[in-house]
Amino acid sequence: MAIVVMKFGGTSVADIGRIRSVARHVKREIDAKNQVAVVVSAMAGHTNQLVAWVREASLIHDAREYDAVVASGEQITAGLLAIVLQSMGIPARSWQGWQIPILTDAAHGAARIIDIKADELKARLAQGEVAVVTGFQGLEPKRNRISTLGRGGSDTSAVALAIALGADVCDIYTDVDGVYTTDPRIVPSARRLPRISYEEMLEMASLGSKVLQTRSVELAMVHRMRTRVLSSFTDPEALQPVRSGSEWQNIGTIVCDEEEIVESQVVSGIAYAKDEAKVTIMNVADKPGVAAAIFGPLAEANINVDMIVQNLSADGKYTDVTFTVNASDLPKTLEVLKNAREQIGYSEIKSSADVVKVSVIGVGMRSHAGVAAKMFKALAEKGINILAITTSEIKISVLIDAAYAELAVRTLHTLFGLDKD
Ligand code: ADP
Ligand code: ASP
Ligand code: MG
Repeated sequence: MAIVVMKFGGTSVADIGRIRSVARHVKREIDAKNQVAVVVSAMAGHTNQLVAWVREASLIHDAREYDAVVASGEQITAGLLAIVLQSMGIPARSWQGWQIPILTDAAHGAARIIDIKADELKARLAQGEVAVVTGFQGLEPKRNRISTLGRGGSDTSAVALAIALGADVCDIYTDVDGVYTTDPRIVPSARRLPRISYEEMLEMASLGSKVLQTRSVELAMVHRMRTRVLSSFTDPEALQPVRSGSEWQNIGTIVCDEEEIVESQVVSGIAYAKDEAKVTIMNVADKPGVAAAIFGPLAEANINVDMIVQNLSADGKYTDVTFTVNASDLPKTLEVLKNAREQIGYSEIKSSADVVKVSVIGVGMRSHAGVAAKMFKALAEKGINILAITTSEIKISVLIDAAYAELAVRTLHTLFGLDKD
């Protein structure tokens, strides 16, 4: 008997028909005598609608009330799934974040889970009751307010719950049948990866592959929680139920330790992020202290800066500094820089949100030289200009014009031998 956490995303619970199909996946695990906690997202598109209503009500709003509104989508799907399970004779009840409780910090809209009090849940699972838990939601205990974990946060709810329950596996059911070498909706020749290491998955997620929320991968990695990505659209009866300790059916993607991956490529995957914006500060003095004058005020305003490029100054006196921020932070960034103009000293600021960041990722890069050179050459041959570069041990990212995003991803996918045969 195993303890299983099963998470179903928005498209997997988009209507009652889909919810019935989810219930059949749950039944398969219950029939195998597993203990099951299910984490559900809001119906597809529902959270977007809630966010739009909040913005329409007032562009500037109380983050606690934003959470009170956007957390409501998950309440609906949790209740509906519990009803469908009960109608199939399976004992089940819905749990909201505050009822468990899933305790978070006070960073409303992007809260972090601090603790999950799972004792009652554990006792009920042991009695054979299915817990249907709202994803995305938590409780901020100091003010006793509902909190949410950021967009895509149900993945994190699921992994955190799996850790709290000591689950054998956290199964993330979505609308694709695993993690692919790149987004299969952009590159049809992308291949499913039977396994991917925590480190690579973390880079993929944080560099734009939204198949898993970044924080969920961080948690899984720290706690070594075995996490699988698989499709809820697969016939529920065609999948084998989870059995602790036994071999896994070759289905979906297992996120696991690097050592468990027998065959690994130099490059495992390619990610792209469209939500970047580029800012160039023109003609700043080329002297000590200027970078601090720029990035100090941005840090104080809680703006995350990603890539930074400083041009060589031609005359030794003045230079340009280019950096990227999240596109949603662009207006705030421009305002902060305007206010700090006297300390920084510059002639002009240019900005553009028409850029994308394309990244190649692979643990094999640790031991293989020349990946960057090969990448830059291939992009040059397609006439794609590189605006900025960042690297780490296992990834290389380039910033390019948005118009070239797909061409760049496809080119690099083929270049690094990732296309399926
Ligand atoms: P859910 O609603 O189930 O949480 P998401 O839309 O958040 O689903 O994530 C699944 C989507 O992630 C897929 O439909 C796919 O387009 C996208 N995606 C991006 N990169 C990848 C990748 N490397 N592998 C698989 N899916 C990816
Ligand atoms: N419903 C939330 C969202 O759309 C959380 C999730 O689906 O993971 O962001
Ligand atoms: Mg998601």
